[in-house]
Amino acid sequence: MIKADVYQQVLKHCTNAGAVLVAVSKTKPVEDILALYQMGQRKFGENKVQEILEKQPLLPKDIQWHLIGHLQTNKVKQVLPYVSLIHSVDSEKLLVEIENEAKKQGRTINILLQVKIAEEETKFGLNADEISIILDNASAGFYPHIEIGGLMGMATLTEDENQVEKEFDQLKSLYDNILENYSMHFPEFNTLSMGMSGDYQLAISRGSNMVRVGSLIFGER
Ligand SMILES: *Cc1c(COP(=O)(O)O)cnc(C)c1O
Repeated sequence: MIKADVYQQVLKHCTNAGAVLVAVSKTKPVEDILALYQMGQRKFGENKVQEILEKQPLLPKDIQWHLIGHLQTNKVKQVLPYVSLIHSVDSEKLLVEIENEAKKQGRTINILLQVKIAEEETKFGLNADEISIILDNASAGFYPHIEIGGLMGMATLTEDENQVEKEFDQLKSLYDNILENYSMHFPEFNTLSMGMSGDYQLAISRGSNMVRVGSLIFGER
């Protein structure tokens, strides 16, 4: 069961702040997704390729699927036809695979580079040096079938709001830095995806313009 009133509140907060709301529907049934769709939501986030492949045929075709979880290179081919934005590009090897498949499929794929900002060892993501290399290569024309639309990051899972704020600020300043230095190469670089159920308001206040909210809207998983 979705929480319709909470959804409206989150949406209102996002809209007022100029942030895009991605409803994270991982593990949730298609009935719940459809209920939210009927309230106007079109962008849904999933963290597994398999779930997109299973849900997509059962739902309206104008849903925009966002892949927010780690993507293995061997799953790129299957998911590309259905994905509208990949938030979780966390290696150049993956970028190369997406480029090759996108070319074969005759598509341009929108992606975000996932930055490692959390202290936990488990979180995927690139560091600032790796991002520079990728952006230099992209500027040199290595990835004609990829549009680098911005950055994504996940803060440490902690009650310590100062820690989370520090990580958001770090990501925002990297984002601003790229805007300053690469904007001529990437006119479409304009998305900063940060913030989840527990920290989306803080994220927006620290400069996020895309939040990925799941449990707050769909209930606990
Ligand atoms: C699950 C997930 C979310 C949403 O988490 P909630 O706390 O349920 O809002 C956001 N981003 C990523 C990458 C996720 O895997």
